[in-house]
Amino acid sequence: MIVTRRNLLLAGGGIAALGAAGVTTLALNAGDPPERELPPVPPGKVRWSNWSGLQTCIPKAIAVPADINELQHLLRTSSDVVRPVGAGHSFGALVPTEGTIVSLDRLSALAAHDAQAMTATVGAGVRLFNLGEMLDGIGQAMNALPDINKQSLAGAIATATHGAGANLGSLSSAIAGLQLMTADGALIDCDASKNAELFDAARVSVGALGIVTQVKLQNRGPLTLRRKTWFEPIGDAIAAAPERARTLRHYEFYYITFTDMAYCISHEETDEPVTPRKPNSENEGAEELMTLRDWFSWAPWLRRMIGKGLIANQETESVVGPAWRLLSTDRPMRFNEMEYHLPREALTSVLPQVIAAIERHSEAYFPIEVRFVAEDDAWLSPFYKRPTLSIAVHMGHTQNHDFYFSEIEPIYRRVEGRPHWGKLHSLKAADLAALYPHFRDFQAMRAEKDPGGRFMNPYLRALFVG
Ligand SMILES: Cc1cc2nc3c(=O)[nH]c(=O)nc-3n(C[C@H](O)[C@H](O)[C@H](O)COP(=O)(O)OP(=O)(O)OC[C@H]3O[C@@H](n4cnc5c(N)ncnc54)[C@H](O)[C@@H]3O)c2cc1C
Repeated sequence: MIVTRRNLLLAGGGIAALGAAGVTTLALNAGDPPERELPPVPPGKVRWSNWSGLQTCIPKAIAVPADINELQHLLRTSSDVVRPVGAGHSFGALVPTEGTIVSLDRLSALAAHDAQAMTATVGAGVRLFNLGEMLDGIGQAMNALPDINKQSLAGAIATATHGAGANLGSLSSAIAGLQLMTADGALIDCDASKNAELFDAARVSVGALGIVTQVKLQNRGPLTLRRKTWFEPIGDAIAAAPERARTLRHYEFYYITFTDMAYCISHEETDEPVTPRKPNSENEGAEELMTLRDWFSWAPWLRRMIGKGLIANQETESVVGPAWRLLSTDRPMRFNEMEYHLPREALTSVLPQVIAAIERHSEAYFPIEVRFVAEDDAWLSPFYKRPTLSIAVHMGHTQNHDFYFSEIEPIYRRVEGRPHWGKLHSLKAADLAALYPHFRDFQAMRAEKDPGGRFMNPYLRALFVG
């Protein structure tokens, strides 16, 4: 993304000079805790872990039903707690259970589509990378997509996963109808006219109402985008953001920690021919930022100077491709993330505070991500009736991130931020009730659909039962 290994090695000439000047100790991975020790897995069991490794559990079973009947059988013949799982790409403890984890990986086929209405009905377990190709094959595309495409559709909508576009809603806002299996094995269809309140609740439900088995998506025709990237001082990026967010189809920027610089990305619709794309260098960029941190965290001024210098020489990108390929990148370097959704006008007051809080931690190196999302009207959508600004902070997966809760979260909360349901936060039912006008309605719907708490683990109980 930004600094190349070659450039950094060149910059490393500075290190030799400092060594000669008597500096011998570099703060390698300052602040990183040792790898956690996990309890042994008993014979015949497996350990489930989320993507970052922060959440783990040893469930009684992991079920992968072949069809609706098998799923129904599972729910009707056991009294276990059941937690549905997608790709395990959430950071919070949404999935862990000592009961049964259920994956809908085998319920992922295209069930129907309508070329006139531009709708497609798919098995909820479909992964976004398969869905993109599947929709392309029938002349459809989703309006917006997140940064990566590894998630399942059900998992993505459960947490209101979003992309970057001030005029584009989250994936949940693209749902035209869905099918939910409740704790007793009943299969319920809902949309804006049938079981409309359940539809409002189930479009973002964190897997607390039941298991979403099928989703009808409201799509659009094929979408080709031109992707442009560039660097600029963070002050310029903040000043230009409202206008760019308003006028560009997709716009986001990253603050590159300890450099005063932003990396900006726009995607605009085009009918130009597809161009070849260089291999994804996001991972290399993150690795180089880590190296910069490792080498220079003991001298913040030097880290800032070298970081800025390296960025000044970076190439910008301009490529054309289908949206489902271009919008999603690989994130092989693992991290733990907190993202809050804020009123849009909070940008100029909140972002500098978040930058200052992160930069109090010299061990931090991942960029801070800033996106814009359109409002919608699902009861638990963090974008509920509020045009949104989203700010996300990241720490490497073995790094301590406790300061998220003591230093970053209070900044977000002062402007009535709503946490991303799949990312790290410390809010409980009473806090959430103050942020969501329909929170009590959701709680009542949950109690009605799952009176026995079959879909509750301790984390969800704190969120929804209180
Ligand atoms: C590298 C990385 C990049 C990311 N980028 C973005 C991004 O750009 N934008 C963004 O908004 N988020 C992003 N996320 C967060 C991610 O999109 C969400 O956490 C999403 O929920 C993960 O989907 P999943 O399929 O892995 O679901 P899981 O994490 O497995 O589950 C998420 C929730 O969905 C529920 N669930 C799963 N299947 C079902 C079902 N069939 N029925 C009912 N409930 C179900 C689970 O119980 C759980 O509550 C990112 C995460 C990572 C690790």
